Amino acid sequence: MHITELPYEILSKILEEAARANIQEGPTYTYGLSQVQLPLQKASTERYVRGPVPPELLKWDATSAIRLVCWQWHEWALEYALNDVYIRRWKGGERWAELTTRRDKYRLYELIPRPTGTAVYRNPFQTLERTVDTFSKYPQVAAKIKRMWFHGFYTAETDRLIFQSLKNCISLVSVSLPWTTVRHWDAAAWRTLLLGSGKPLRSLELLAVDPTKQQAEDPDNQFDAQSLQSVNFGELRRLKFFGDTTFMPITDRDLYAIARTATRLEEFHLTCISTITIDGVVAVVKASRNTLRVLEHSPRSQDGFWHPHPGSPSDSEHLCELLRSCPKLETLSISLPSVCADLFSDRHVQFGGDNAKFSGDLQVRALHICGHEHGRSTDEATDALEKLLHEARSLVQRRATSVIPRELYIELFFADCIFEPSFSSVHGDFSLAQIASRGQWPQSIEPSGKGPYGSTGLYEKEEEGPFQRINESEFLYGVRRKLLSIST
Ligand SMILES: [Zn+2]
Repeated sequence: MHITELPYEILSKILEEAARANIQEGPTYTYGLSQVQLPLQKASTERYVRGPVPPELLKWDATSAIRLVCWQWHEWALEYALNDVYIRRWKGGERWAELTTRRDKYRLYELIPRPTGTAVYRNPFQTLERTVDTFSKYPQVAAKIKRMWFHGFYTAETDRLIFQSLKNCISLVSVSLPWTTVRHWDAAAWRTLLLGSGKPLRSLELLAVDPTKQQAEDPDNQFDAQSLQSVNFGELRRLKFFGDTTFMPITDRDLYAIARTATRLEEFHLTCISTITIDGVVAVVKASRNTLRVLEHSPRSQDGFWHPHPGSPSDSEHLCELLRSCPKLETLSISLPSVCADLFSDRHVQFGGDNAKFSGDLQVRALHICGHEHGRSTDEATDALEKLLHEARSLVQRRATSVIPRELYIELFFADCIFEPSFSSVHGDFSLAQIASRGQWPQSIEPSGKGPYGSTGLYEKEEEGPFQRINESEFLYGVRRKLLSIST
């Protein structure tokens, strides 16, 4: 039997094995040169390993021979190598003329005992411009791409090029774009991307960084097409915002516009972004209330572990109830203005009062306890905290013993402490209370594995001492006896 007569699935498995073997044998790193040799200078140029070859290029290299065999193998190789495509800005603005860009020639290059180097200018947008060229010349190549990432392009001009390159990617299901596309693309461009002529886009990531001063000051880049209002996000299943910027940042207004149509999101992530408040998050959560499975809202800034204030909700809606009653919400990591026992149990139902579907790791970072937003360490607030911890613990037990048992691990960050209800543990810095009580309290003290290196997720706390672990009941006793405070 001839190999081309094999069923496609088997052939594809064989080719995949061959490509994997090629990846292992081929060069997996790129070279750089230490410095240019200037005239009359003795210092010699050294070769060094610059970094690993990105996985998508490894796949491209590994299938180069397969692509030449026949039409069918060529098609397979394109599909295999072009599933994921990363387009990055060329960093450094130059490359070494003598250093081959063909990695399959590295073995020959390594034989050169004394490498020399001449820096030649390289257009940092070349990869993007080439992509536009290739995709418009060979739309059948573009049609193979399922996922694309664009990194390092933030100007109106590059945003236009990004759209040009995406136009022919009709099988695209997932894309990661610079946030400036939200400002620079018009509604028609967004509609083309989201609904496409082939499959609708399922996952959209918007990545923000601070552009250079020159880019930020260029009036061309300051243009805002205000297109989100007239775009339909109804087919999108996953939306992610990542990173902080001061240049035309994503704000609550953008989230309100998205929430108008984003009614079927399954995952919604907001990470390291501090320009949105809880209001914007809630608008999207409500829009996708029936489908949302994963919600991650950690506004922590990138350059440290400082947490900005999550914002105060402008209407009086009880967010604990809203989150608990999302029928599919399983994975939750959120920063809330306040939290209470209602996040874990429904007080209006007598027995088994519970529609929470949480499982896996659940993290809540809260500034206050609901109903005690004054932030004082009162007995009532302590009672509410005790109830919250108790309800969290019973939800963990209910989930573990339900018809389909689910593991749930809850961590609560509040009042400079980390609470682990399932272990009845509280982690924090209790050294002052220890001194004040002359070593009488706390009794159950142990060293803690949590904190202080920023893993605590605390608000506005820059310096943290070493953490200790004590028993939850002892903690609550200490707060009631005023040995410790939960004021926030
Ligand atoms: Zn609450």
